[in-house]
Amino acid sequence: MKNYDVIIVGAGAAGLSAALYSTRRKLSTLVLSRDLGGQTATTMDIENYPGVDFSTGPDLMSRFAKQAQKFGAEIRLEGVTKIDKAENGFVLLGELGEEYHAKALILAFGKSHRHLDVPGETEFMNKGVVYCATCDAPLFEGKTVAVVGGGNSAMDAVILLSKIASKIYLIHRRNEFRAEEILIDRVKADSKIELVLNSTVQEIKGDQFVNAVRVITPTGPKELPVEGVFVEVGQQIFTDFVKDLVQLNDAGEIMVDNFNQTSCSGLFAAGDVTIVPFKQTVISAGEGAKAALAAYNYLQGRHPGDRFADQGYIK
Ligand SMILES: Cc1cc2nc3c(=O)[nH]c(=O)nc-3n(C[C@H](O)[C@H](O)[C@H](O)COP(=O)(O)OP(=O)(O)OC[C@H]3O[C@@H](n4cnc5c(N)ncnc54)[C@H](O)[C@@H]3O)c2cc1C
Repeated sequence: MKNYDVIIVGAGAAGLSAALYSTRRKLSTLVLSRDLGGQTATTMDIENYPGVDFSTGPDLMSRFAKQAQKFGAEIRLEGVTKIDKAENGFVLLGELGEEYHAKALILAFGKSHRHLDVPGETEFMNKGVVYCATCDAPLFEGKTVAVVGGGNSAMDAVILLSKIASKIYLIHRRNEFRAEEILIDRVKADSKIELVLNSTVQEIKGDQFVNAVRVITPTGPKELPVEGVFVEVGQQIFTDFVKDLVQLNDAGEIMVDNFNQTSCSGLFAAGDVTIVPFKQTVISAGEGAKAALAAYNYLQGRHPGDRFADQGYIK
């Protein structure tokens, strides 16, 4: 079994930022993650990361990773399926069957996409039903598609698709959107986008690939001819495997204090997986940095929020 001072679960903004701060404290650091970059790497337009006018998500996250690796962080693309408290830290089981030991642990494994759970969704998954507009929008060039949802992700998806598809139905179960006003204004002003409000998807239909979506609208059921359905109805949190280790809130998010401590000593958490409000890349990055500094203090036998944590930078 390999031993580390700190293991970080998740290589999104929170995990990679934690890795940078942890390695700069000369802690041996492993990042275990299912992918590199997390949700940020699924968008092609980052315009609100301070100091970076514009970046694609994959590029920004690749820079996060390289910077952490420069200071010695080891990044391994392997999911974590089990975590046990051990005598001097934690033992983690990876999806490839490897076991890892860490004196301190930082959970930064974010969130994932929620499904519609309607007939046809599973059958046509990746045959027209997709969950990542950034990854899959280019496949729908010149086609008619539907986007389902009413938050920032749905707005991002329709704005991206309006540059690629010929027509986009935006299906939302409410009358109003829960997204940034600036995005809503852009969507409403776009003649390629038809709003289908107060409506729910009942079924996704097709032959070999999607060819229609059946929607219940206020005036009755309607079948919209589409070749793609982008599901953008929010995210799910998969904290079940740590529920016996740390305290969760009703939404399944990990409870943390101001120093990113969980209810379990030596176990810290950061980013979208936690109760932190306003889930954003910059917030996750900041939370990851805090978690790593608190873990460093913990490993020094000091209080995680010790004021000396922000001194003694390694040049
Ligand atoms: C389409 C879209 C557009 C967005 N646009 C913006 C934007 O413009 N600006 C902005 O600030 N924010 C944006 N966001 C939000 C931002 O991406 C998130 O707030 C941010 O990615 C959260 O970072 P995180 O590190 O906390 O979690 P995540 O990014 O979710 O990363 C979690 C990581 O953990 C890994 N993981 C999950 N489970 C396990 C496991 N069991 N074992 C190991 N690894 C695991 C995942 O593979 C992933 O790498 C956007 C989100 C989406 C979906």
